[in-house]
Amino acid sequence: MPSFRPVVSLLPLALLAVYAQPPPAPAPMQDKTSPTPRATIDAAPTRVFGFRDFTQQAAWDAEFLAVPDPALARQHLKTLTASPHRAGSPEDYATALYVAGRFKAAGLQTEIVPYTVLLDQPGTNLVEAFDAAGHKVFAGPAPAPVAAETGSAIDTSQDDPHITPPFSAWSASGDVTAPVVYANYGRLADFQLLADFGISVKGKIVLVRNGGDYRGVKVYIAQQRGARGVLLYSDPSDDGSRSGSTYPDGPFRPDSAAQLGSVQFLPIYPGDPTTPGIASAPGLPAADRIPADKLQNDLPSIPVAPLSASDAAPILRALGGLAAPREWQGGLSFPYHVGGDDAAPLTVHMRVVQRSELCTIWDVIGTIPGSEEPRQWVVAGNHRDAWVYGAGDPGSGTAAMLEAVHGLGVLLQHGWKPRRTIVVASWDAEEEGLIGSTEWVEQNETASPAGPHRTIAYFNMDVAVSGPVFTVAAVPSLREFVQQIAKEVPSPVGGTVYQHWKKGDDRQQHKPAASAVTNSDAFHFGDLGSGSDYTPFLQHAGVTATDIGSDGPYGVYHTVYDDYDWFVRFADPAFAYTQQQARIFGLELLHMADADVLPFDYPAYAREIFGYLIQARNRAAVRGLDLDFAGVLNAAGNFEAASHAVHQRQLAPPADAADLDRALFSVEPALLLPAGLPHRPWYRHSIYAPGEFTGYEAVVIPGVNEAIDAADIPRAQSQLGALAQALDRATAALNTAN
Ligand SMILES: [Zn+2]
Repeated sequence: MPSFRPVVSLLPLALLAVYAQPPPAPAPMQDKTSPTPRATIDAAPTRVFGFRDFTQQAAWDAEFLAVPDPALARQHLKTLTASPHRAGSPEDYATALYVAGRFKAAGLQTEIVPYTVLLDQPGTNLVEAFDAAGHKVFAGPAPAPVAAETGSAIDTSQDDPHITPPFSAWSASGDVTAPVVYANYGRLADFQLLADFGISVKGKIVLVRNGGDYRGVKVYIAQQRGARGVLLYSDPSDDGSRSGSTYPDGPFRPDSAAQLGSVQFLPIYPGDPTTPGIASAPGLPAADRIPADKLQNDLPSIPVAPLSASDAAPILRALGGLAAPREWQGGLSFPYHVGGDDAAPLTVHMRVVQRSELCTIWDVIGTIPGSEEPRQWVVAGNHRDAWVYGAGDPGSGTAAMLEAVHGLGVLLQHGWKPRRTIVVASWDAEEEGLIGSTEWVEQNETASPAGPHRTIAYFNMDVAVSGPVFTVAAVPSLREFVQQIAKEVPSPVGGTVYQHWKKGDDRQQHKPAASAVTNSDAFHFGDLGSGSDYTPFLQHAGVTATDIGSDGPYGVYHTVYDDYDWFVRFADPAFAYTQQQARIFGLELLHMADADVLPFDYPAYAREIFGYLIQARNRAAVRGLDLDFAGVLNAAGNFEAASHAVHQRQLAPPADAADLDRALFSVEPALLLPAGLPHRPWYRHSIYAPGEFTGYEAVVIPGVNEAIDAADIPRAQSQLGALAQALDRATAALNTAN
C-alpha cells in the first residue's frame, strides 16, 4: 500500500497497511474513551503562525472547542442514515433539508443549490461462469439479504427495497462472453507481469480484486489493453474475513458483500461527464453538453460488475492456467491461477444493463460573510450522498461538520465575526464522481486572483471517522497550519491529537514517504491525489487544500453494512472521534478565516518541490533518459528564495496585510498549467494530480513524472519547461509582496 493518506471515500486501503500487516487488531478501544474530553489543553500554543497576537483567537478557540457535542453528533448520524440516500433520490433531498436546517439554526446564510447532472442507475447485472467442458460453475451475483445472513435482530432495515444493489456506476451496458484472466489488483505493473508471462487480456474478461488503486483505473487500463469486460471483487485478505472478524461480529467485510462504486475515469476529469469545465446549472442548453454517445473519454466502454468474495470464489477456483505469483494469492482457501489457458478456458458470460439520465442533485451552501476581507473565501465541505446508508462514508463527516457549524453558530451569538468569508458546503453526488463539488467549483471559481472573490483555502472531510488513527493529506504550505491546530485539540484517549498523531507516525516510519522528502520533524502527511471533493479545488482551480480523517478497520466500506449499527459498534461508539474531527475541522475554518496574515508556509512548499525534482531527475537517469533539469531547478531556487523573504514578512506582518495576503493567495493559482496536463486538460495543477494510472494516489509534478514513465523525452522536456514557467509565475506572485 502506498503511504499517501488513503482516500477512504472510495478506497479504505491505507488503513489496511496499518491493520493488516500485524495480525488483525481488535476493535479500537473506544470503551476507554471519554465522550467529552476537556476542551482546553494545558499547553495551548501562544504563538501561532499567521497571528500577530494569538490571545484573542485562543479565547475564541476555547469557546468553539467547548461546543461540538457527541450526543448531537449521534443524533445527526442517526437522522442522516435513516434511509438509503443515493444522490438525486428523495431521501437524499431530505438529508439536504436536514443539513440546511442545521446551517440556518447556526445563523449561516443558507441555500440549496441544484445542478442537473448525468447519473447512472443500476439495472440488470448477470454473471455466469462455465468450465472448459461447458459446465456452469457459477451463476449470480447472489443477493445478500443482511438480516437473513446475520441471523440477528440488527440491520433488519437492510432488506429495504430502496437499497441500491451492488453495481459499478458508469459501467457500459453490454452482453459479453469471453475467457477469464485474473490480474491481481489490476495495476499497470500487474498487467505488465501478465504480458511478461505471455498472457494477453485482449478479448478477455479480466477479474481483478479491489484495492491497491482506484477501481476505475483498473477498468481504464484493462480497456486500453483490449479487455471486453471487468469483474471487480473483494478478496477476503484485503478488507474481509482474512483480516479479522466480519460484520456483525467485527468491522470487516462479510464474504457476501460486494463493493459498490464508481468506475468513472476520474483521472481524466471528474464531475458531470457531460460538462467538463462548465457548471451543469439547471437550464444549461443541451447543446452545451457532450452527447451521451460521445462520453467514452471519461467513461468505460466495456461492461463492469462487482462481485463479493463468495461469488468470485467458484470462478477463481475453476480458473486454470499458470499458478499466480505469490503476491497475487489472496485469502480464499485454494491456490490462485491466472487463467489464459486457451486450450481449456474458463469462460464468463456477463450481461450488464444500466442507464444514465439527467437528474437533479442538491449542494447545501452556508455562508458567514467576512467582516474585513469578504472577498476572500474560506471553504470547507463534506459530501452527503451515500451508496446506501453511508454511516462512515460520508455520514460521520456530515455529523462532524454539523457540530463544527454548531460551534460557529455559538461564536456568532457571542459576537464573533470572521475576518474572511466562511463557506460551508454539503456536496451531493460525490460517490458517482465528485459531481456536486466539481460543478460548484466550475460555477464559482475563476482561478483568477482578480476575480470577484477568491477561495483561498478548502478543507475537506469525507469519511471523518472509521476508527482512531488521525490522518491528514495537505499541500505543503498548510502542513504547519494543521499541526498547530492538532496541538489545540484534545484526543479522546488523553493528551492532544498532535501527540497521538506523532506516535502513529512513529509506528509507520518504515514506510517511505510518498515524496521521499523527509526532515527530522516530518509528519506523515499524505499528498492530495484524488477520490474526494478537494480535487476540483486544488487541481482545477488552484486552491490550497487539506483532507482529514480518523481511520480504522473499515471492511463495510461501500456496502449496505456501512450503517448506524456498524458505526456505533465498531467505529466510534462514544462519538468522541466525531467530536474530535468537528473540532479540528472547525479550527481549520476559524484560523484561516481570522488570521492576520494568511498562514501559508511557502518555504515548506519549496523544499518539497525541490525534493520532487531531484527524485524525478534520478528516475530519468535510471531510465537512461537524457533530460535537462537546469532550468527548472533554477526556477525552484528562485521560488525558494522568494518564499523565505515572504516568510520573514509573515512572521511580522504589517498593520495592513492586504497586499501580503494577495501575494500569498496568488501562488497556488500561479502553479496551474494554462494548457493543463497532457491527455487531461481539466487537471491543471503542476505539482499534484491523481496519476493517470494510479487514480487515488497522487503523482507529484505529474506532467514531468508521467512523461518519464512513458519514456517520452520531448514531452518530459516540454513539461519541465511548463513547470519552470509555473514556478516563475509563483515566484513573481511572491515577489509582489517583497
Ligand atoms: Zn465518501
